[in-house]
Amino acid sequence: MKLLDVENLNLGFYCENGFKQALFDVTFSLNKGEMLALVGESGCGKTISAMSILQLLPKNAGITSGVITFENQDLLKLSCKELQHIRGSKIALIPQDPMTSLNPLFTVGDQLLEVLKIHQNLKGKEAHKKAVEAFEAVQIPSAEERLKAYPHEFSGGMKQRAIIAMALACNAEILIADEPTTALDVTIQAQIMSLLQKIKKERGTAILLITHDLALVKENADNVAVMYAGRIVEKAPAKEFFENPTHPYSLALLNSLPSNREKSLETITGQPPSIQQIIEGCKFHPRCKQCMEICTEKVPPEYQVGENHISACFLQE
Ligand code: SF4
Repeated sequence: MKLLDVENLNLGFYCENGFKQALFDVTFSLNKGEMLALVGESGCGKTISAMSILQLLPKNAGITSGVITFENQDLLKLSCKELQHIRGSKIALIPQDPMTSLNPLFTVGDQLLEVLKIHQNLKGKEAHKKAVEAFEAVQIPSAEERLKAYPHEFSGGMKQRAIIAMALACNAEILIADEPTTALDVTIQAQIMSLLQKIKKERGTAILLITHDLALVKENADNVAVMYAGRIVEKAPAKEFFENPTHPYSLALLNSLPSNREKSLETITGQPPSIQQIIEGCKFHPRCKQCMEICTEKVPPEYQVGENHISACFLQE
């Protein structure tokens, strides 16, 4: 069942030297119980695409066109109050750095109870019971006791679990997980990813995973969308993507995976362009080893290269 549809999203930033477009016709959808990974290098537009869903955008950002459909309504047309109802209770954010997401002055339990009060209108014993259940659901041991702890008494992994608990307590249908394991060490990363998998399977929660870590994607995601310079350049079911990647940028990213290093470690020369840089044609062409003349003149359209598999590269013509 389709939960979310992002269609032809275009967004830019008002800079000192004018409006600079940062997202170009970004289109993807998210089904119940699906984990979709948005991948790409830093600055490729994955976080800003995801934040557009909740409209948690910098002040100088502006969405110029597009439709974001959730529960038969266009989120881009909702008032602040209507959006407030959706944020947290229906679509929740798991941030990159759990350290900065909890208020150090209040116990974690108080913060969870506050969330339950705002989004579920729960108070007193009922809220407390729900808070304990949420902590237990994310496998925080001694849940009752740990509710009384302050954030500094939690490890990084436990803080991330507490934030996930807040989303679960409100029965969020979609989790936007923005590099949720980047600030954690490797063993804790695996625990958090297995927790997200469990939530996805048991509750049918859809997860939009934003990451630059393709190893994480290979192990966890159902579908993959690769972004480059504000555009989705390849989209496929994860199995198909890892078996049959087609876009030169995807191939370059995959060749830098540690598991592929026995073959040959390929680096991608240069940097992704900033939004200030004007690049005609395919924005990857200055870094692409297979660049052709047409690539410098025209933006490649999306080619259907397999079932649910698209690639925006002239090589597919
Ligand atoms: Fe490379 Fe051209 Fe394909 Fe762009 S369209 S990825 S430049 S071959």
